[in-house]
Amino acid sequence: MNNNCFQYSTQFQIPDSDLEFLDKISLTFNNKKYPIPAPTLCPQCRQRRRLAMRNKRVLYERQCDCGRITNDE
Ligand SMILES: [Zn+2]
Repeated sequence: MNNNCFQYSTQFQIPDSDLEFLDKISLTFNNKKYPIPAPTLCPQCRQRRRLAMRNKRVLYERQCDCGRITNDE
């Protein structure tokens, strides 16, 4: 299945295996199926959105649990 990216209108492919998977994990309540929609953004835009929602990585300086003094002290 081909689809156009909602953001940049670039064409991208959705493999049949992905569509089958979305159909497989769709929920069914009272014999009514609620299908999970196919993605509207291309993989690059989805990755960009994921990275935008991610927290910044923060590293803290602390003493090592082993009790030894490290080289940079
Ligand atoms: Zn896109």
